[in-house]
Order: sequence, then structure tokens, then C-alpha cells
Amino acid sequence: MATGEYSNETEKDEEDEEEEKTGGSGSRRECGAAAVGAEGTGRRQGKRRRLLRPGRRGLGLGLGAGAGAGAGLPSSKGMGKTVAGLAVAVAAVACAGAVVVVSRRIRERGQRAKCLAILEEFRTACATPVSRLRQIVDALVVEMHAGLASDGGSRLKMLPSFVDVLPNGDEKGLYYALDLGGTNFRVLRVQLGGKEGRVIKQEYEEVSIPHRLMAASGQELFEYIAKELASFVNREGEGFRPHGNQKRELGFTFSFPVNQTAINSGTLVQWTKGFTCDGVPGKNVVQFLEEAMAKVGLQMKVTALVNDTVGTLAGGRYWNEDVMVAIILGTGTNACYVERADAINKWNGLLPRSNSMVINTEWGNFWSSHLPKTYADEGLDADSVNPGEQGFEKLISGMYMGDIVRRVLLKMAQEADIFGKPIAPKLMQPYTLSTPHMSKMHGDETHDLRNVAKVLKDAFNISGTSLTVRKIVYMVCEVVCERGGRLAAAGVVGILKKIGRDGTGAGAGGQPLSRSSSAKNVSSRPRRTVVAMDGGLYEHYGKFREYLQQATTELLGEEVAKNVLIELSKDGSGIGAALLAASHSPSQKNL
Ligand code: ADP
Ligand code: MG
Repeated sequence: MATGEYSNETEKDEEDEEEEKTGGSGSRRECGAAAVGAEGTGRRQGKRRRLLRPGRRGLGLGLGAGAGAGAGLPSSKGMGKTVAGLAVAVAAVACAGAVVVVSRRIRERGQRAKCLAILEEFRTACATPVSRLRQIVDALVVEMHAGLASDGGSRLKMLPSFVDVLPNGDEKGLYYALDLGGTNFRVLRVQLGGKEGRVIKQEYEEVSIPHRLMAASGQELFEYIAKELASFVNREGEGFRPHGNQKRELGFTFSFPVNQTAINSGTLVQWTKGFTCDGVPGKNVVQFLEEAMAKVGLQMKVTALVNDTVGTLAGGRYWNEDVMVAIILGTGTNACYVERADAINKWNGLLPRSNSMVINTEWGNFWSSHLPKTYADEGLDADSVNPGEQGFEKLISGMYMGDIVRRVLLKMAQEADIFGKPIAPKLMQPYTLSTPHMSKMHGDETHDLRNVAKVLKDAFNISGTSLTVRKIVYMVCEVVCERGGRLAAAGVVGILKKIGRDGTGAGAGGQPLSRSSSAKNVSSRPRRTVVAMDGGLYEHYGKFREYLQQATTELLGEEVAKNVLIELSKDGSGIGAALLAASHSPSQKNL
């Protein structure tokens, strides 16, 4: 074992070793807490038998050694005495050994029971029965109404996006997009060829944001981005050409809460997702970007400033008219949807061209007393850069779920010694367990949960765990994932309810929203509604996706659920921003 490695190998549960050798309890479905618990009781019967084994083994070795040692003794009488003495000594040692083993086992059993109690308590606190989900759906609808009624009327900002026309396929020319909103940013260019040509050609690149820039000044952050964008533009190759004299135009996807003041300007309300760059909140982010572009000598105009959800909606709608809602489940989470103009009471601007407008809900900040909150969530929130904010996001998004798991494991380590002593320093350190780590453990289908073991080693430098411990870790992942997926489903259904697409007949019923379809009559037969999903969490965490889909169906009922499609719209936000730059470009009017 390497130095600095944390192990409970010496206390490794012998039963587990046996279980590992024999293939354990097999399929992952048996990995429920109930399965762990039942197995704990069931195996207790065999325990006494196995507990004796180390003693017997010791006794056998002792006698053998004694016989060998006695072979050279002078007289048979003396030898008899010696043998008797040895036997007593060996028996005493064996007894002492057995006492140690038994007391260790009692302690371990107590620890395991305590871990299971912690797991059960956590599971109960995280429960999301459908009745609770319905309360959350209704709470979300109430908050959506309040947020549309007035600024500051709700924790849900319900920001009008100024997007009142979504792309419909007529767009032509060369457009760029910049997508900033998390761990990476993307730059993209696309050559659009109208209805026939559609997307003729596109290219994109992804650039990671150095961690220090997330806390640097606003100028530093935007200059770094402008430089990367300029070098991408310089590599513009064959097949990309602006339309006529068109200046290069950019759709800027900026996935933080913005108070939009026009389609191409808006002020940052506050940073989220770990960003804290000075000087930006309250300012126009387009101005920051344009100043940085000018500084690096890049000639480009920002035509549309959009949120990633709005970009995803536009990207989805370009191909499919039934897309009414877009949701991001990645590092953070957010949702937008098409709302009727007359339902946006706080809107004082001109009547939108299509009589509808895309509303950016900023649902990451949603909160309701019906949402399940545990000690792990409270600790995570208290230690975060934005305590009291983004409550819904902290329950369901990729930035946080892994750390919730870590916090539960830490409690098990502190109160029930789950990984032995001393506690691994990395287990005490926030964000050492990422959500991809969590999904790797949760997706472990090996009989001995060796991927769980690998992640515990990689993330915390903990090794030598027993199978029972690994099952408990697996279960913690399961509980956090199930809660997250089901709560996200309540969010989806809340929006569908608000626009009258949840089958209850309530809600306003958003209009299709595009130049060509704004005047269409809405028929009374059930309409298909497509929810465009994007984000690494949704894309890569299969079990999260399954829980989300299952709870959506539970909430809507099988019949209505048939008309609601949740579709992955991969990287829709990037191309969507370019498409919105096109549909809002002054040059499109001449096409
Ligand atoms: P962003 O949200 O930063 O724009 P993405 O949409 O690509 O970027 O999402 C990245 C996030 O998705 C990561 O921060 C992580 O939380 C989550 N994620 C990525 N891969 C996985 C995975 N295999 N399992 C679970 N979550 C993942
Ligand atoms: Mg993103």
C-alpha cells in the first residue's frame, strides 16, 4: 500500500472476501439498502461457523509447531508436561484471539448497522413519491405565474428573452456562435443554406476555462475568450463565406442569469456555477465581449445574446416545430419555454411579432418547502459561493450531486468508521467526488463493484474496501441520482402544466412561435410536445435519464406521456445561438 493511502484492509470483512470470491450477490438490482440489510441478517447465521475458523486455523498451526519443538526434548515425562503446558498456552492464546475477533466483529457489525441507519435516514429524507412531486409541480407553476407578474415577484426570474422569432430554416449565410456557461466554452461557425441547403457546413472547437479565470476580473476572462475566438476565426477555411457584404456576426450564448435589455444586450444578474469574476454583475456582458474583441483586433458583431436554454430551443426548433421547451442538465440547470405574450404581465415592450416570446425561467433558483433537503444539502449550500441561491440546481445538477454523495460518505466515515481510521483527507475536501465519478460508480455492473473501488481510490485515495462498504457507497449514489432525476421530472411537468401541455387542460397553452406559424389555429386534438434536452449530465448519466423519464410518465400518465417527447438535442445551444444570430440579423431582411 502506498504511503498516504487510506485503507481498512486490515479490518476487511472476511465474509465479504468470501462473497467476492464466490461472485457475491450478483446483479446490481440486488444492491438495494434492503438487499444490503437483508444480506447482513441472512449471513449472520453462517457467521458463528466462520468466526471459529481463524481460531481453529491458529490452533492447528500452534500444535504443529509445538510438536516440532517438542521432538528434541530429553524425557517422555518431561515431554508430556511440556506438551500439556504448551496445549494450555495455545488454548489461552486461541481464546484471547477469538475474543479479539469476536469483539472486532461486534464492533464492525455495529458500524455496519450504523452506516445502514445513516443510509436509511438519508433515503427517507430524499424520498420523492409521486404525491410529493405533484406538490412540487404545482409550486413551480405558482412561482412561474408570480415571476411573470412582476420583477422580483418570485425566486424564479422568468426573464423575457426578447426572442420572439425562432429560426425556421430560411436563414442563409455564415454565422458564428460562442457558448460560455460552465467548465468549457465552445466556438462554432456554420454556413446556412436556407430551406434547401439547411446546415451546409459547420465546425466547432471546445476550449477549457483555466480555473483561475473563474475568479479573475471580468476583463481578463473576456479577453481570454476573445483571443481564443479570434484564433478560431483566423482558421476559417474552405466552404465558409459571408453572404454578400455581410460582416461576420455572432450569437453569444451566455448561460448565466441575464436581464435582457434587447436581443443583443443584457446585464448579468449574478454569477452562478462557481464563477465570481469581478466587475461584471450589473453590466452589459455584450459590451464586455465587444471591448475584448476590439482589443484583440477581431471584427465581429454580436447580433444575439441568448441563454443556453434559449439557444437549445432555437436549435431544436430549427428541425422540429413541436419543440416548446428546452432544458439544460449539465454543470448547472435551467429551462426555457415558449410563452404567450399576454401571459407575460410584466412585459412593457412592443408586442412580440409572433404574439409569443421565449421565457428564460432560471429555474435553478426555484425553491419550495416541498423539495427534500437533507443535512448534506444544507452543508453544501452553506459552503457554496452562493448560499441560499440556486436551491433547485443544487439538488439536481452535475456540479453538485457528486458532492452530496461525498457528504453522506463523510458522515458515514465520521460516525460509523465506514472506511476505517484515519479519515482520508480528500473525503473531507469539497468537490473531490465529481458527478461523473458518481455515475461511474452507479453504473458499475461488475459482481464485486470494482469500479466503485476504483473511484474511491481515484477520488479519495481510499482502498481495500469490503464489498458491503462498496454496496453502501453504490446505494448513496442511487439515492442522490433518483432524487435528482425525479425532481427534474417535476420541473419538466411544471412547465408543461403552465403551457397546458400536461393533459390536465389547465394552463395558457403556448403558441408555436415562428414567422410562418404564428397565425395557425391550434386544434383541440392532443398535440405533440417536444422537450429539447442538452447538457453532459443528461447525456452521459443513463440512470439519471431513466429516473427522469420514468417520473415524467408517472406524473403525466401513460396516455399524455405518449405525446411528450424528451429528446437529446446535443450541442443545440451552440448552433441555436448561430441560428438566432441569423434570424435576428439585419442582413437576413435582404435575403
Ligand atoms: P456545461 O454545463 O459546463 O456547459 P456540459 O453540458 O458538457 O457542460 O456538462 C458538463 C457537466 O455534465 C459536467 O460538469 C458534469 O457535471 C456532467 N457530466 C459530464 N459527464 C458526466 C457523466 N459521465 N456522468 C454524470 N455527469 C456527467
Ligand atoms: Mg453548457
